[in-house]
Order: sequence, then structure tokens, then C-alpha cells
Amino acid sequence: SDMKIITVIGSGLIGRSWAMLFVSGGYNVKIYDNQPGQSTKAITEIKKQLVELEEAHMLRGELSAAQQLALLSSYDDLSQALDGAFFVQECVFEQLEVKQSIFHDMERFVGKDVILSSSTSCLVPSKVFSKVQNRSRCLVSHPVNPPYYVKLVELVPHPETAAAVMDTTHALMTKVGQAPVLLKKEIDGFALNRVQAAIIAESWRLVQDGVISVKDIDLVMSEGLGMRYAFIGPMETMHLNAPKEIMPAGILGESSSEIVQTVSL
Ligand code: NAD
Repeated sequence: SDMKIITVIGSGLIGRSWAMLFVSGGYNVKIYDNQPGQSTKAITEIKKQLVELEEAHMLRGELSAAQQLALLSSYDDLSQALDGAFFVQECVFEQLEVKQSIFHDMERFVGKDVILSSSTSCLVPSKVFSKVQNRSRCLVSHPVNPPYYVKLVELVPHPETAAAVMDTTHALMTKVGQAPVLLKKEIDGFALNRVQAAIIAESWRLVQDGVISVKDIDLVMSEGLGMRYAFIGPMETMHLNAPKEIMPAGILGESSSEIVQTVSL
């Protein structure tokens, strides 16, 4: 295939967002949904959004709303939807059996080199792709809602995923203006939700220990840390600041000074 056609499987909130992102990068996007008529309705909804975005001067990409709309097509038939695609982004319900079975079905209709990518928020690739024969072309590309405005995409490999598949997906996401990050192996929660869980756990602890109120711990983020973290990450923060202020004794135990040393290297 000539790397121009992308198929989006499932036309709910996330499927429609991916379709909008891919057409903004000039790709032809074929939308499939197993609810008859749903993918056609999705295009009507996308049209409304593209026109509104254009009027607000917030449309992504170089093409006009009309040009982007012309790149979209809808299908109720899976094999027709997959015909000619080099990349498939799955966006069906977050249920393991539903995902396993749609990937199993898809594999009958696509060539060996076609990349199969899942939008799953919480399921690890080794589970999602367990019914796929050729897993070297499978990965998770986890977006953050709303993907049209939040650029991060976590790329998570199956243990068997080929490096070239990660590279091609990274390049595709970059081309459509997203900010892909590469996980080197699968892990529950991927990276974003693990960092978020650490923040939530410490916030709970401070409230539970009677150190601070619920309202005020939220202000610590929204009026403080959150603003910094919109620009730089935790590693850069440690690199730029005095380590002792950031890592008070006891938070990470004895390993904290080792961690700080490693980071400043
Ligand atoms: P949604 O319920 O809005 O849409 C799901 C769509 O998939 C529906 O249109 C449904 O008809 C269709 N569908 C269901 N089974 C199907 C099948 N077998 N074949 C074809 N189509 C099928 O869900 P959503 O919020 O768009 O989420 C989709 C995926 O994206 C989930 O895995 C979710 O975890 C992930 N995700 C969601 C968010 C979010 O904030 N909503 C963020 C990141 C990732």
C-alpha cells in the first residue's frame, strides 16, 4: 500500500477525534462501525466540528475544512473499510473480548505489513492482541481526551512488536501534529496514568494525615505545580532546581539522593 489510507474502527468520541487528526494531516480516512449507519452519522458530526473549527481559526493542518471532509468515507462493511489501508486505529468499546475479537476479524482482511493500533486506555498489548497471529505489527497508541487539543500519544509495544512498526507510528503521529512518546515495554497504566496515580496517592496521604484540606491540595496543583508541568517535566525540574527542596528527606526514602544524582548526570 502507498501509505495514504488509514482505517478507523469504531466511530465514537475517540474514533471521530482520530479521524479528524488523520485528515488534518492529509490522509484518506475510512471509518467503520459495527452499528449500521453509525459511521455515516459520525461524518455528519465531524463535518459540523470541522466547519466550526475553521470559523474559529482553530482547524488543524494545511487543508480547508472542505478539503479535509473530502478525505473521509464511511463503511458498514469491515473488509471494504480495511481495503488499501496501511494503518488501522481501533477505537471500539474498552472491553477486552470486544477488542480481541475485532482484531481477530481484521487480520483476515489485511496484509501482513498493515499496522494494527489500539486506542485502549487501560488494557496491555499482550492481552489486546492475544488472538492476532502476526503480532509484530501490533501496538497501542493511547490518546488523551480530547485528542484534538491534547497532543500526547503513548505508543506501547507488544513484546513481539517490530521496531520499524514503532518508528512508522511515531512518524505518523508526528506528521499529524501529535506528540508521541515511546514506551520500551508494556506496563499497567502506561506512563501517564502511573505518574497521575503517584500524584493522587501522595495527595490522598496528605489529606488523610490531616496535613492539608481537599480544596487546598487541589490548589497545590492548579495554582502551582500544574502550571510548571505544563512547560517542563519532572526530570527537567530536578535538573534545574536544588534537589533537596524537591525531594524532602523521607519521601522516597534512602534512594532519593541516588535518584537525584542519576538524574543530574
Ligand atoms: P465510545 O463508546 O464513544 O465509542 C465506541 C464506538 O465503537 C461506538 O460507536 C460503537 O458502536 C463502536 N463499536 C463497538 N464495538 C464495535 C465493534 N466490534 N466493531 C466496530 N465498532 C464497534 O468510546 P470512546 O470513548 O470513543 O472510546 C474508544 C476507545 O478509546 C476505548 O478503548 C477507550 O478506552 C479509548 N480511549 C478513550 C478515551 C476517552 O476519554 N473517551 C481516552 C483515551 C482512550
